Amino acid sequence: MPSVTNSNIIDGKAFAARVRESVTADVARLKSDHGLTPGLAVIIVGHDPASEVYVRNKVKQTAEVGMHSVHHELPETASEAELLSLVEGLNADPKIHGILVQLPLPKGINEAAIIGAIAPEKDVDGFHVVNSGLLATGGKGMVPCTPLGCMMMLSDTLGDMSGLKAVVVGRSNIVGKPMAQLLLDANCTVTIAHSRTKNLADEVRAADIVIAAAGRPEMVKGSWIKDGATVIDVGINRIPAPERGEGKMRLVGDVDFTGAAERASAITPVPGGVGPMTIACLLRNTVTAACRQNGVVL
Ligand code: NAD
Repeated sequence: MPSVTNSNIIDGKAFAARVRESVTADVARLKSDHGLTPGLAVIIVGHDPASEVYVRNKVKQTAEVGMHSVHHELPETASEAELLSLVEGLNADPKIHGILVQLPLPKGINEAAIIGAIAPEKDVDGFHVVNSGLLATGGKGMVPCTPLGCMMMLSDTLGDMSGLKAVVVGRSNIVGKPMAQLLLDANCTVTIAHSRTKNLADEVRAADIVIAAAGRPEMVKGSWIKDGATVIDVGINRIPAPERGEGKMRLVGDVDFTGAAERASAITPVPGGVGPMTIACLLRNTVTAACRQNGVVL
């Protein structure tokens, strides 16, 4: 398994590269020993610029690890019925083991209906209610990529997490809630904080593990971090950076990195922390899905 560098910064980019290496090796073995090529289909609807960049990266990396990669671009005007029919076709395609519909979808398309139409065993994003239900009840479903990446980095950094106090700041279905569930499964004592939490600083101060996923730039202050805590910053926020020139922007997380790094025993930076792990985990999930659908144990 990949491991972090010696400093207290968890290098998500290097970690993700090692996950991709292990995926590449697994794909090669599946091809040579089982005649199986894992296949991922990515669907994008419309022209959201951030989504287009993200999807381009996914498609490129899928091909780089040796998988069968399919990319569907639908116009902004596509109907829900068209999208449903595309998903149903991919559900029935034996060459496709993973289906990802890039969110957000244009107005007028019901996201829950589209996610619900993906065959749960091909739902490599882990957003289908069957997969969230399996995660909540200790079953073997598909785990959402971002929380999965956070857990990989945490267990590599900390090993056994039993009995540690964890706080997850944010309660979204795609990050906060599955993250809390995974920490609970790792025997942590978990607090979920959110926009109505009173005294967030005290909740964070008590935690051995801090997961920040609120989408609020540098909201978690360095002074809130307990000495020796492990901090995973999921937030990606674009803020003005006049020091770089007029109109320039820069990326920051939800944590005041400089302040928190002075106290934390390990911390992920933004960029270069959780972000790169998300696509690597999507590839890992696609291999898992292909193996399960074909009864292969690697
Ligand atoms: P979301 O907007 O769906 O949820 C944000 C959550 O934060 C909510 O549950 C809300 O209650 C909580 N929150 C908001 N303000 C708060 C406050 N002041 N105090 C405490 N809690 C507060 O967002 P999301 O989709 O879960 O994403 C969260 C962040 O993570 C965003 O910055 C997003 O861009 C980033 N993200 C990164 C990756 C990645 O690959 N690194 C993946 C997904 C999301």
